[in-house]
Amino acid sequence: MPELPEVETVRRTLKNFIINRPLLDIDIYYDRIIQGDPVTFQKALQGETIIDIDRVGKYLIFLCQHHAFISHLRMEGKFHIVSSDEPISKHTHVVFHMDHHEDLRYLDTRKFGRMELIDPLHYKELPPLNKLGPEPFEITTEALYQRLHHCSLPLKTALLDQSIMCGIGNIYANEICFYMRIDPRTRASRLSQKRVDELRRVSIDVLNRAIEQGGTTIHSFDANGIHGLFQVELNVHGQKECPICHQPIKKVMVQNRGTYFCPHCQKKRY
Ligand SMILES: [Zn+2]
Repeated sequence: MPELPEVETVRRTLKNFIINRPLLDIDIYYDRIIQGDPVTFQKALQGETIIDIDRVGKYLIFLCQHHAFISHLRMEGKFHIVSSDEPISKHTHVVFHMDHHEDLRYLDTRKFGRMELIDPLHYKELPPLNKLGPEPFEITTEALYQRLHHCSLPLKTALLDQSIMCGIGNIYANEICFYMRIDPRTRASRLSQKRVDELRRVSIDVLNRAIEQGGTTIHSFDANGIHGLFQVELNVHGQKECPICHQPIKKVMVQNRGTYFCPHCQKKRY
């Protein structure tokens, strides 16, 4: 599943290819990708020009002159830019025909992704974006401390709660707990303000490093399309051995999510 850094990579990559290009026509092959009426979606965007792409958490917002739409890739969603002659695959669900005989295509093997028209001026104050907490880049230590101090969830789970702080998914939540040298099952409320400040800085660092690594892929997209997935160096997530102490990484389920940590380096200290 793409996380914030991958979605940011998709945003930056797409911006290089589709800004100031017209959407001449839109074909929808699988209606359920569109939330709301697909015909309204088509009609609103037909003839529009994409002027910018914004991102809030894991949502992309395509801003046109008069309208805007929001896109969430969920598990497997990705965008391709291909010649209009390219055959439509069975996983192609939405096609935006642009100029120069090129298409922006949305593909999704799992069909979980969604697109929806949204108010271009007030989208941040409307659902679903208004339910999201601030990103780690935006929140203050004090505000994060207040939120975690009253939270009885395990830290790992609190990091995944998008209403506390948005943009951290399962992979980076595991990595952040590793950098903190903290057992992911530790209650979020046990963290001191000093540790919360560290948590905020570590979260920003982990996300920024991933965004930087994604940055190298910006100018090269291939037949795989733009899904922003790239090789990130992971310390614990999906790993067998701790890079510090070389002891085996342990996998447990924390609130139904696969959680990787080093029991030696990440001691429960509270
Ligand atoms: Zn270790």
